[in-house]
Amino acid sequence: MTAKTVPVDTFDLVIFGGTGDLALRKLLPGLFRRYADGQIPEDSRIIGVARDKLADADYRSKVGEALATVVRGEASLQSKLEPFLQKLGYHALDATLDTGWQAFAEELLTHGERIRVFYLSTSPGLFVDICTRLKAHGLNGGKSRVVIEKPIGKDSASAAVINDAVGSAFPESRIFRIDHYLGKETVQNLMALRFANILFEPLWNANYIDHVQITVAETVGLEKRATYYDGSGALRDMVQNHLLQLLCMVAMEPPAAMEADAVRDEKLKVLRSLRPISNDEAAQATVRGQYRAGASNGCAVPGYVEELAALQPGRTDSRTETFVALKAEVDNWRWAGVPFYLRTGKRLAERVSEIVVAFRHVPHSIFEHGAGPVMANKLVLRLQPDEGVKLWLMIKDPGPGGLRLQHVPLDMSFAEAFGVHQPEAYERLLMDVVRGNPTLFMRRDEVEAAWKWIDPILAAWETLREAPKPYTAGSWGPSAAVALIERDGRTWHEDEA
Ligand code: NAP
Repeated sequence: MTAKTVPVDTFDLVIFGGTGDLALRKLLPGLFRRYADGQIPEDSRIIGVARDKLADADYRSKVGEALATVVRGEASLQSKLEPFLQKLGYHALDATLDTGWQAFAEELLTHGERIRVFYLSTSPGLFVDICTRLKAHGLNGGKSRVVIEKPIGKDSASAAVINDAVGSAFPESRIFRIDHYLGKETVQNLMALRFANILFEPLWNANYIDHVQITVAETVGLEKRATYYDGSGALRDMVQNHLLQLLCMVAMEPPAAMEADAVRDEKLKVLRSLRPISNDEAAQATVRGQYRAGASNGCAVPGYVEELAALQPGRTDSRTETFVALKAEVDNWRWAGVPFYLRTGKRLAERVSEIVVAFRHVPHSIFEHGAGPVMANKLVLRLQPDEGVKLWLMIKDPGPGGLRLQHVPLDMSFAEAFGVHQPEAYERLLMDVVRGNPTLFMRRDEVEAAWKWIDPILAAWETLREAPKPYTAGSWGPSAAVALIERDGRTWHEDEA
């Protein structure tokens, strides 16, 4: 079975930061796949922008190298590589200076009015400069749109500065705040499971759901993003955006239609229903951790501070958290009393992102003791590394003999079974931007509401002034994170399969 590919309209896509990590590792491979799949019209252009003085040919060979691994994995893509590279151009520009912008604008406008996407794959410190200059050179016209990457600020106040600046150049309907988790197949499938089936929705509330867990665990450490990460930490880098967005997808009410503002209105209501975590509650409801030396994927790895010192000579200490676990409560009729446990961290035991919806136990077991325990149902939506959905059910152990019970997963991941290529999140989201469909992007008020909930936690941590709790690299985080959930008589989900 092959998925139907509908070509998008011809476009120009400008990637500010076109030589950076995100562009080379995610955006350009995503665009290449869409091109190879026939979704990108031949006369579209992709233009990289950065300060480095490169000729078009240099840029093409740089991108060609980055795409070599994609092609190596799939020989059928080889014949598409050269034609794709021919769509690429490059323009050297310093976003902070006026020089060169006029020529850049003229080059873009040679093709007249067409869809123009400006992807700001640079540090957020440049968003204001870039948007101001796009506007000054008339590049913010009716068919243009802008994509901005996280982090959108460090708190409510700094997010407002960025949103104001971007908003002064582009109307909200043409601002695409990307959260790539929302482009994942499984997250879309969550919408389908919830709203295209009658089975789950009647159970999707405090009467039948005991709690929800959302885990986004990475095995990598600091990598090269020392300055950004050390000034940010896991709460701002992961929870404010990815984890809260996933929470919204689980907790939202059915939107009136699968339409951008209807979906985002419902997510916004969830964010506004999050119970604030006060200074007094923060010590119990949140855990901050920082990894120490340990092992990752079988290799010895240094601790966070040592990694930081290697990148920033002279650093001997840091209080930045590389791990967060917290208990969130959604104060509305559907979710009253149902905790949402969130955790995320670097250098954890496994790279895994998943949502676990844990149902309540049956009210009474009719089975004899020898049948074994009656375990509660769980719906596990895995986003990484392999996307899939499993519903854990109790069945009778097959075969003769007495009635014994077994907890088994019903695998509901059909894409693999049908041999369908699951597009990377960025592939889908980039095409949505070209189509002008913002359903899977964050609206300004959502970002603001998320910060409004995060700000008091940051303030409480400032007041507590506790050092982050140490954990060994390669573990599941500090023991306090285990205590956080076990205090409530629950445990973090472990895949039994
Ligand atoms: P990066 O590797 O440091 O790349 C930054 C890019 O911006 C480079 O192409 C750089 O090229 C260019 N640049 C820097 N200063 C410039 C200036 N004054 N004018 C024009 N171009 C300039 O960063 P990245 O990892 O790709 O991240 C880009 C953005 O995406 C950041 O906001 C990051 O937080 C976000 N993000 C990244 C990832 C990821 O996986 N990498 C994931 C999620 C979000 P020159 O130095 O040659 O100018």
